[in-house]
Amino acid sequence: MNIEAIISSLIEGDRTSLARAITLVESNLEKHQLMADEILSACLSKTGKSIRIAVTGVPGVGKSTFIESFGKFLTKKGKKVAVLAIDPSSEKTGGSILGDKTRMNDLAIDDLAFIRPSPSAGTLGGVARKTRETILLCEAAGYEIILIETVGVGQSETLVHSMVDFFLLLLLAGAGDELQGIKRGIMEMGDCILINKADGDNQLAAKKAKQQFKNALHMFPASDSGWIPKVETLSAIEHTNIDWLWDTICEFEQWHKQRGLFETKRNQQNQFWFHQLIKDKVLDTFYQTNKSEIEQLEKDIEQGKITASKALQKIVK
Ligand code: GDP
Repeated sequence: MNIEAIISSLIEGDRTSLARAITLVESNLEKHQLMADEILSACLSKTGKSIRIAVTGVPGVGKSTFIESFGKFLTKKGKKVAVLAIDPSSEKTGGSILGDKTRMNDLAIDDLAFIRPSPSAGTLGGVARKTRETILLCEAAGYEIILIETVGVGQSETLVHSMVDFFLLLLLAGAGDELQGIKRGIMEMGDCILINKADGDNQLAAKKAKQQFKNALHMFPASDSGWIPKVETLSAIEHTNIDWLWDTICEFEQWHKQRGLFETKRNQQNQFWFHQLIKDKVLDTFYQTNKSEIEQLEKDIEQGKITASKALQKIVK
């Protein structure tokens, strides 16, 4: 595999080279990781020029339908859009449920769009790291808007939050106790909340929910930047308020850039990832070098010979 050739054609926007580079990033083989590092280093100066957007919400809320609708809206404007996914369930099932091409038929065949399913193997932290590097590769290939889809139920949101500029939460009206259904921490991360399926008989309920969420947001602490999260209704199927959302994202970007907050946040995120990488590496090395002792202590704990904290003291020594 010719790394130089991959780098130069990736930077020219060649999708095959981009896909190849991502495959290297996703591989766990050391030689592939070295190649991936080389590509990432060479691409670094071409990265950072996109707007990175997280799209989250429980299964069935309409994420795929929304991404298809919003993605097409953007490509019609001539924008290059990449869709990536972080799927926390993949760790258990070994499969991918999100970012599935077959769920975004129109976008999948759009020349200006690039869809990549979630890497299907590894820990959540590992998958998130790979997604983060994939963002950089997509940026180097000229993608201007990066959408990262994730299921709004678990820890993956915190990791996704640390790799995006704009966090979009999709919710549904009519559940009654919506606020309990979605974790408060996730609500607090939202830069924008959209109440989806605001069409047909559901329009009134969606409007009511919008007001409820607006009120609820007042009770949350203000974000560091001072940006007040926007709440609006949406119909992903009828494409209503998609243009409103785009205006809001542009406003958000401007608002943060004017205050120097856009770059500050990205710098903080880079620092976060640096430390995340250190932790991953240290932990990995620790487990590998102490494998047999750890296994022995596991047995001792199981047989009641030693407590977990005593076992820790032993291994640390
Ligand atoms: P995801 O699991 O969050 O990706 O949700 P999907 O995009 O697969 O949508 C789940 C279901 O909700 C599908 O049957 C969609 O057709 C439907 N759906 C999505 N968006 C809308 C919408 O705006 N209005 C209505 N009425 N249905 C929608």
